[in-house]
Amino acid sequence: MNRVRCLVLNAALGPLDYRVPEGMVAEPGQVVECPLGPRTVVGIVWEAERLPGAEVPAEKLRPLRAAMPIPPLSAALRRLIEWTADYYCAPLASVARMALSSGGALRGPATMTEYRLSGGMPERMTAQREAAIEALEGEQATVRELAGIAGVSEAVLRGLVSHGVLEPVGVDCDRPYPRAAPDHAQPDLSAEQQAAADIFTDAVRAKRFAPFLLDGVTGSGKTETYFEPIAEALRLGRQVLVLLPEIALTEAFLTRFEERFGTAPVLWHSALKSTERRRAWRAIAEGGAQVVVGARSALFLPYAKLGLVVVDEAHEVSFKQDDGVRYNARDVAVMRGHFERIPVVLASATPALESLAMAENGTYTRVELPRRFGGAQMPSITTIDLTQEKPGRGAWLAEPLIAAIAERLERGEQSLLFLNRRGYAPLTLCRNCGFRFKCPNCSAWLVEHRFSSRLACHHCGHETAPPPTCPECGEPDCLVACGPGVERIADEVADRLPEARVFVATSDTLNSPGRAAQFVAQVESGAIDVIVGTQLVTKGFHFPELTLVGVVDADLGLEGGDLRAAERTYQQVAQVAGRAGRASKPGEVLIQTRHPDAPVIAALASGDRDGFYEAETEARRMAGAPPFGRWAAIIVSSEEEDEAREAANRIGAARPRHDDMAIYGPAPAPLSLLRGRYRYRLLINAKRSVELQAILRRWLGALHHTAGVRVNVDVDPYSF
Ligand code: ADP
Ligand code: ZN
Repeated sequence: MNRVRCLVLNAALGPLDYRVPEGMVAEPGQVVECPLGPRTVVGIVWEAERLPGAEVPAEKLRPLRAAMPIPPLSAALRRLIEWTADYYCAPLASVARMALSSGGALRGPATMTEYRLSGGMPERMTAQREAAIEALEGEQATVRELAGIAGVSEAVLRGLVSHGVLEPVGVDCDRPYPRAAPDHAQPDLSAEQQAAADIFTDAVRAKRFAPFLLDGVTGSGKTETYFEPIAEALRLGRQVLVLLPEIALTEAFLTRFEERFGTAPVLWHSALKSTERRRAWRAIAEGGAQVVVGARSALFLPYAKLGLVVVDEAHEVSFKQDDGVRYNARDVAVMRGHFERIPVVLASATPALESLAMAENGTYTRVELPRRFGGAQMPSITTIDLTQEKPGRGAWLAEPLIAAIAERLERGEQSLLFLNRRGYAPLTLCRNCGFRFKCPNCSAWLVEHRFSSRLACHHCGHETAPPPTCPECGEPDCLVACGPGVERIADEVADRLPEARVFVATSDTLNSPGRAAQFVAQVESGAIDVIVGTQLVTKGFHFPELTLVGVVDADLGLEGGDLRAAERTYQQVAQVAGRAGRASKPGEVLIQTRHPDAPVIAALASGDRDGFYEAETEARRMAGAPPFGRWAAIIVSSEEEDEAREAANRIGAARPRHDDMAIYGPAPAPLSLLRGRYRYRLLINAKRSVELQAILRRWLGALHHTAGVRVNVDVDPYSF
């Protein structure tokens, strides 16, 4: 009798054995419906042949219900899932869920119903209905999604449906995507670009595993360069995955893609509507989606015939997932290439130290674009010493920076001010009693957002209206903002240069592809003079008239003091500097700092990237940090502080001893309260020779905790 071992997706259980009913095909990778208790759940046939430890006789096993009418997951993808679960100490089922998009994309009919405004009005208008109608202008989605967009209950929307205010629209989720044309418009590449493109294109043709580091300065034309191997993959009928760090960036990218290939790529990210998700998932699995542009979660999808993976801005923090399965998409992308036997291109102007080390030791092939495209010059970089050039009270911009912005205004050019802090002020307190506004769910201050007049937590999303009186002492009108956020800097610019048209560009204002597109169009048409933005505007954008970049506080990122602080500062400042003078007009970068002699600031000013990376490498070597040694974190959390601390102490007491491994903690984690959970952390630093994951599994697997305690392992944490 035929038996198989299945991964069941919605259970924290290990693989379960099932009987395969007569006439059903259940080969490895097949997605199936499995009985589990009284329910039917989605599973994947993981093993069909050797099933060690199969004690229950086959006839006693429950039979599989059905095989789903979708292609089985390939052996390469199954190996990637296993590798990821193993390396990141995550449950196999959690990783597999990402491949199946949690199962949601599999279900449902080919035609789904969405709703949109019909233009009609309800007989009885209520405030909620009115707000919903206004919010849903131009939207079309399922009732549940529309409720989310409008911020009302589904019941309100069902009321509007029954009054005919929302009309149903049938959406065919199986309709094919337009075909991309590999030779739609071919740019003339520079000799350097062409040489790089040829290397990638050859690797695509050879269909072999080949990891590349495309190390090219900002404005060198990396995108056009990796478009050529994409074209080659299209000619060969293979699929391509391009990972981008931010959804806000995709709009500019999509335009360029469409110009080159005649049609838009298929998008994959967490904000997709259910109809789009289902359509994209099927097309990816069946091969109709030729080029997929996605966030990190696109990495685990079941591509029918993947031929190339590109990770753009590969150094970006946002490729590191810090929830659920904690993985680094940059590293998993290389592993996907390994299992699929295809090339992987990691593109960046400021590669992570780990990636550079892989290039140095020959694991990755380094391909360089050392010059900007079209003869554009790299910008000149100067520091402004804030201990000498003190801005006035309650001001943050030094006179030379104001003067430089004024100069751009006069010439009709644009400026970008960078400060990695959303909102108006990072801290709000009462001037009478000193009360500070704290998040009730997190150990973090509430950040004032003056445009939307809210106090918000940037960690859990908690929001409140600023109260008219201090909640502590009752004093009216007593709130003072401490420190600058982008909104406050925008106010300062407007104050000093009233004729300037200022725009604040953050995830608050560019929170949809449409808004991002509008922003790009406004900058391009010259309707904005000064952009004040967070890290969101440090990459991807190309504005020819933008000739000045001001870094408001270069010291900000150094404050955390973790081993990656200098690298992160270097990357952020170099990236934002890279927005200046990308076309014919030369760019100027002014960096405000209180520590102009700090090695990272000095390296930025002198353009000595190699020197900076060498010094950083040495610091990492001394600390036994990556790439020389490895770090892992164990995060123990619970809604009860005592429970979390006790569990962490028990883990600490059971620590394994190993000569080549040091264990620190437990201690309260940075953000010791997050979303209502108290967090303790142990840090592990090990030599590369140590079998870290095996040790962690043995160590943590032997301990059992009370139900409210969660133990998460973070292998290769971003900060350490
Ligand atoms: P990077 O990603 O390396 O910072 P981009 O790919 O954004 O650089 O290219 C910088 C600018 O140069 C873009 O406006 C791009 O359209 C232009 N560019 C790059 N290569 C070419 C080319 N071969 N022909 C025409 N324009 C190019
Ligand atoms: Zn919070």
